[in-house]
Amino acid sequence: MVTVRNYDIPALRKLDVAHHLPAQSSYKLQQDMGGSRIITHAKGSTVYDGEGHAILDGMAGLWCVNVGYGRKELVDVAARQMEELPFYNTFFRTATPPPIELAAKVASLLGGNLNHVFFNNSGSESNDTVFRLVRTYWALKGEPKRTIFISRHNAYHGSTVASASLGGMDFMHVQGGLPIPGIEHVMQPYWFGDGFNEDPVAFGERAAAAIEERILAVGPENVAAFIGEPVQGAGGVIIPPPGYWQKVEAICRKYGILLVSDEVICGFGRLGEWFGFQHFGIKPDIVSMAKGLSSGYLPISATGVSSEIVEVLRASGEEFVHGYTYSGHPVAAAVALRNIQIMEDEHLVERTREDTGPYLAKVLAERLGDHPLVGEVRSLGLIGAVEIVAEKGTNRRHGTGGQAGPIVRDACIARGLMVRAIRDAIVMSPPLVITHAEIDQLVGTIADALDASAEQLAAIG
Ligand code: PMP
Repeated sequence: MVTVRNYDIPALRKLDVAHHLPAQSSYKLQQDMGGSRIITHAKGSTVYDGEGHAILDGMAGLWCVNVGYGRKELVDVAARQMEELPFYNTFFRTATPPPIELAAKVASLLGGNLNHVFFNNSGSESNDTVFRLVRTYWALKGEPKRTIFISRHNAYHGSTVASASLGGMDFMHVQGGLPIPGIEHVMQPYWFGDGFNEDPVAFGERAAAAIEERILAVGPENVAAFIGEPVQGAGGVIIPPPGYWQKVEAICRKYGILLVSDEVICGFGRLGEWFGFQHFGIKPDIVSMAKGLSSGYLPISATGVSSEIVEVLRASGEEFVHGYTYSGHPVAAAVALRNIQIMEDEHLVERTREDTGPYLAKVLAERLGDHPLVGEVRSLGLIGAVEIVAEKGTNRRHGTGGQAGPIVRDACIARGLMVRAIRDAIVMSPPLVITHAEIDQLVGTIADALDASAEQLAAIG
């Protein structure tokens, strides 16, 4: 591992409060805590903070470091590309080799008619691209009335104006006057939270039927696309019941509506296939990708687009007046290509599907299934959630809900495990290189944290 610089952590924490505004944060809390926790280095599935604590990274950074930390191959390819050509744009009928090669590679992984790839820098930007591309497509196709997007409550599609509007997080919409017009949100397929007393498959059918009802309410001729994450990540690792996605796909086809799969978290092996839509056996028209595309080593995202859509744009002769300075950044693209090669060489997708994913499910069930504070454990590939409840056998929450999760999360972090609390679910999405021993540690730490939190949780009621 590289020699870690000798940082003055107290001074950095002071500067953090004085000048740095971190993402998606309470700046009061940042100040009250005397600054952020500072992560200085990492290797494999473990990150280290400025105080020297080793922390097992149950979140792969932010659902993204799929190949794990400390990959010299990615450093080398970035350095080489920076020397050869650090930047050139793709605006004026120019391109550089890495994004062309990466587009071909990603298209081959997407399969089917998803033959084309547009590059951006983040998942949010990819979904902004989706927004403009879809509306442009319908306008050029001669159906300009088709502008409405249908999405789900509690979906996460990003933080920019369009992507946060596509998302269904009410607490995000409050800030900035969102959502922008033309976006309809319908119920999410969250069985544990919203369908607990129903048969899961029937509940999934009801959730899919809500999409059709909304299409009919606004007029099918006005609907452009449906967008969804195969498994909702930031919403709380919501794995839809069997049959849900098939029904959603059938509804989209019935009304000629484009199907957009937001694979920012699910893509690049997370569910044990290259893409989540492949796991669920559906065929989207557009796919958003980011995070695992480069394992987070550099910012890059991609929007996969079907041949039919590109043919309409080509036939029109119009320019698609959209793109970013760093669309197809050569260094980021070179790193992403190498990252995909690592995943292939080490069979990380197959390993997730056949080995580590099933092992995580087994250990979660064995260690936490019967825990008195746990209402449900669920996982698919290497993404999972543990629902904390006040009463075993129900989905009743402690207090008014939302207080238990952060308590247990903090107890996990104090025990050397980074996980996230989403309301009262502890969620995990570790690097795809995680070992069995580390999975034991991950789940064992959650069990310990639950035990240690029991009294505090009981006090909430
Ligand atoms: N879509 C999904 C499904 C996501 O999970 C995220 C990020 N968590 C985004 C889009 C936005 O990606 P970014 O933060 O890179 O803008």
